[in-house]
Amino acid sequence: MDKYAEILAMAKRRGFLYPSFEIYGGVAGFYDYGPMGAALKRKIEDQWRKFYVLGEGFGEIMCPAVTPEEVFIASGHVKEFTDFVVECKKCQTAFRADHLIEETGLKIHQHNKETMDKMIAEAKIKCPQCGGEFAEAHPVNLMFNTKIGVGKNKNAYLRPETAQGMFLNFSSLYRHFRERLPFGAVQLGRGYRNEISPRQGLIRQREFWMAEAEIFFDPENKKHPRFAQMKDVKATLVPNTTREPVEMTLGDALSKGIVKNEALAYYIALTSKLFTTIGIDPARLRFRQHEHDEMAHYANDCWDAEAFLDKLGWVEITGIADRSAYDLSSHMKASGVDLSAMRKYDAPRTVERIAVKPKMKELGQKFKKDAGDVKKALESVDACAIGPEGIELEINGNKIFVEKELYEAAKVQETVYGERFIPHVIEPSYGIDRIFYTVMDHAFSRTKNEEGEEYTTLRLAPVVAPIKVGIFPLMCKDGLDKIAEEIEAKLRTAGIECQYDDSGSIGRRYARMDEIGTPWCITVDFDTLKDNTVTVRDRDTKEQKRVKIEALAPMFREKLGL
Ligand code: AMP
Repeated sequence: MDKYAEILAMAKRRGFLYPSFEIYGGVAGFYDYGPMGAALKRKIEDQWRKFYVLGEGFGEIMCPAVTPEEVFIASGHVKEFTDFVVECKKCQTAFRADHLIEETGLKIHQHNKETMDKMIAEAKIKCPQCGGEFAEAHPVNLMFNTKIGVGKNKNAYLRPETAQGMFLNFSSLYRHFRERLPFGAVQLGRGYRNEISPRQGLIRQREFWMAEAEIFFDPENKKHPRFAQMKDVKATLVPNTTREPVEMTLGDALSKGIVKNEALAYYIALTSKLFTTIGIDPARLRFRQHEHDEMAHYANDCWDAEAFLDKLGWVEITGIADRSAYDLSSHMKASGVDLSAMRKYDAPRTVERIAVKPKMKELGQKFKKDAGDVKKALESVDACAIGPEGIELEINGNKIFVEKELYEAAKVQETVYGERFIPHVIEPSYGIDRIFYTVMDHAFSRTKNEEGEEYTTLRLAPVVAPIKVGIFPLMCKDGLDKIAEEIEAKLRTAGIECQYDDSGSIGRRYARMDEIGTPWCITVDFDTLKDNTVTVRDRDTKEQKRVKIEALAPMFREKLGL
């Protein structure tokens, strides 16, 4: 059995993951989290919140997954959120073209139809199901389509990312953060993508968990106020120029121009720190810059955090993208709602401008019921739009021409306090399920017990371990079990997750705890009756020491940083 299969088998046996809908035969691309898995996932998310909500001071919001179509038309997803698919001419099975190519060991440097078709033909790739030939590649949209309401209903999609919620609420959030940039809003929730033939279990799901931060910057100042604290963080970077991994500090990467701006560099460093905290191995983590044609339709620079996973190789677990002004501009254009921010001047400035004063009587005669809209548009028109004969305007999607006889244009002096602009967005987007699997993969090790039998130990970082302490009475007699139960109650009250276990030999009980990643185990034995101490055993060093019962809760709280 390979490591991936071993981890999934263990995950099922020990309550981490269950394939969804299994009693009905299961459906690819969906997973249930069992009690241990849900706890581990929640703890990973708690650490994420510790970094982003507590550490960065960002605001967490929660928005619906069902989203009306116009949002994704504006965001570009209806047109662009596609993968290239090839179908077998013989058995009609559909495959993702890039995956078929990459599985042969080839690297795709251009993600377009022509390249995919050429590479499949040249590498003579045939259908893995039946050996048939493939038809030409074509794009398929990955969003799940649905309807809102019945009757005259509205077309909608399940969100493929949580990000749009932050963009749509930009104005409210901007006010909430006292109209000062940079500020960030985050969302943890499910994303939905109707992945084509998902075969990598947890790595490629159709409904999965995301943790996304959208951080709004003034494009003239993509500096992070706390970059000094991150500049010495080291990471392995793979720039798209050399495509070679190089280890360096983010400070160096920035000064050498490898990472484009301070904000991106800061969030690469923060991601690296977060991942180390939750137990991802830094030696199996790298940040790879996207190829130019690989970037999402909204990104102008993007670095993927990739983890090395046994059997699967390098897998993207987080994308850190500079989305520029793309999202806010697109929604502003489509909705007609102002989504700009104000760059305040140090001191008010007096400026001269050409003000257009509409002649209402004449406007009314020509434009009738639209005269009000024309007036508004004229009053905010830019000087450069004023032509020698008049002004061309767009009113409710229609182009109109307002002759110079219908308004007066005069120079006026005004006091201005700042200028408006569309903020740029830096987005670290984390896939929680992939991070979850990476944590399991990097923590997974095989250990031998005293009898020489091999068993699994999950060396989870204590902060994410679902159970922190296993508590065992040596025997269920002379009150040892009662003392163990009392310790369990005390530790729970102190906020430490623990589990009482009195079945089987102590060796077996240790093994059960090691397998779910419990960092410490307590044994209550006959000495406890004499001196009120218990044995505390460390999962990784196997070291055992005697500790007074009353010292247990403070000791574990300290170890866990509670
Ligand atoms: P993206 O918006 O494609 O950059 O995705 C952001 C993150 O979501 C990725 O880094 C992955 O960790 C995760 N992700 C994307 N697609 C899936 C999927 N089908 N199943 C699980 N996680 C995913």
